[in-house]
Amino acid sequence: MPAQPDSKGPWRWAEEGRILEEALDQLAHLFAEAPRVEPDWDATHTRSVLMQLTQKLADNYPYFHPLYAGQMLKPPHPVARLAWSLALFLNPNNHALDGGRATSRMEKECITKLGRLFGWDPVLGHLTGGGTLANLEALWIGRELQPEHPAIAASAEAHYTHGRMARLLGVPFIPIPVDPEGAMDLNALDAVLDTRAIGTVVATVGTTGWGAIDPVDRLVAKRDQYGFRLHADAAYGGYFTLIRERLGGSARQRFAALSECDSLAIDPHKHGLQPYGSGAILFRDPGVGSIYRHESPYTYFTSSELHLGEISLECSRPGAAAAALWATLELLPLETDGAFASELWKSCRAARTLAGYLRSHQAWVILQEPELDILVFSIRSRHAGALSRMNRSIFERAASHGLHLALFTIPVGKARTALPDLDPDVDEVTVLRACLMKAEHLEWCARIFEHLEQARKEVPAPE
Ligand SMILES: *Cc1c(COP(=O)(O)O)cnc(C)c1O
Repeated sequence: MPAQPDSKGPWRWAEEGRILEEALDQLAHLFAEAPRVEPDWDATHTRSVLMQLTQKLADNYPYFHPLYAGQMLKPPHPVARLAWSLALFLNPNNHALDGGRATSRMEKECITKLGRLFGWDPVLGHLTGGGTLANLEALWIGRELQPEHPAIAASAEAHYTHGRMARLLGVPFIPIPVDPEGAMDLNALDAVLDTRAIGTVVATVGTTGWGAIDPVDRLVAKRDQYGFRLHADAAYGGYFTLIRERLGGSARQRFAALSECDSLAIDPHKHGLQPYGSGAILFRDPGVGSIYRHESPYTYFTSSELHLGEISLECSRPGAAAAALWATLELLPLETDGAFASELWKSCRAARTLAGYLRSHQAWVILQEPELDILVFSIRSRHAGALSRMNRSIFERAASHGLHLALFTIPVGKARTALPDLDPDVDEVTVLRACLMKAEHLEWCARIFEHLEQARKEVPAPE
């Protein structure tokens, strides 16, 4: 019998609202010296628009729920939601100290803590709108520092925005083929390094598709030999460095080598429990700040303290993002043995646990052992076309029962590494992908597998 819906919903959101109310009273009290201003907004109408919005918001998948495992979505921690919301009542702007006094300091504290995660202290960096902007800044700095070597190389599995950002910067972009595990093939890179003016190599630490980790340790050695800049795109995978000792041997070494890269992008809105609009760029050598400073307006130099707008391509940025990350790092410090680390490890364990369930059943196949918390799998079939059709049907059946996955199109050659009997009658096959990014996913693996089995049984096997 299906469970009865809980009239309060699956999450205690209203309780968060009550904490926010208390904090808002306190905040208003702290500004009580300013003369009173009568609000000139229509509360009744505002409320009715908000209720209308609530109805519209229901047209979403339940991203916050463990049965949502489709795209890379991880709900923000309540403390991040609350801190962001609270800060919005002041709406500080972290481009300059005058506009975001307290939150600029919080941002610098957060950057120091993120830098230490990679052994960089001091570090230069700031929060960004997301990983794309963070990567753009690193690629721009690379172009400014080595104008005679403008080209950027990244693996063919790197995030699609690197090619787009290279076009924006007006520099060549060279995709490097990947090895069977989906990480950059260094032999292919060597051939390119010998013939092209590569100024920056991007190492992806956790690809968006497979969660594969480029060989950062060996790229560091190549950087020392060839002199390119090595940028790590750790937008999704960066936080896993905290638990690298628990990962497999090669992943551990690759994460450990991040400290040798020149710059690094990490998204607090991916694995750092933050709302969207929270990325970060870090530079190992604070000296690169001078590249930005040439372009910063003289108005920033009214104080000897650093204005974040002096070292950022963007001008206005939300101080609320810094407040949210600051509060989260207070509650959940980045400690190897802390609560944050053990929750993060749960997502990796979830991917391994679900892989175990699927492996124990001959109807399913794992396409690659999960390195982090992304699992790519498929129904078994000899015919590539039938396999794709069945996976698509399972995806739809599962969604209709409340389990949300993603479809992923991969080259048939890659699928044949796990399914050697697959007849290569097409170029690509559609398989299933689960992003098990929530700590709760671990406890829900058995339920997720039940849903998968139910969906599979509803999909007719091919003739
Ligand atoms: C998500 C992601 C990006 C893009 O970051 P946004 O925050 O979406 O702009 C870039 N690279 C990798 C590896 C990612 O996972």
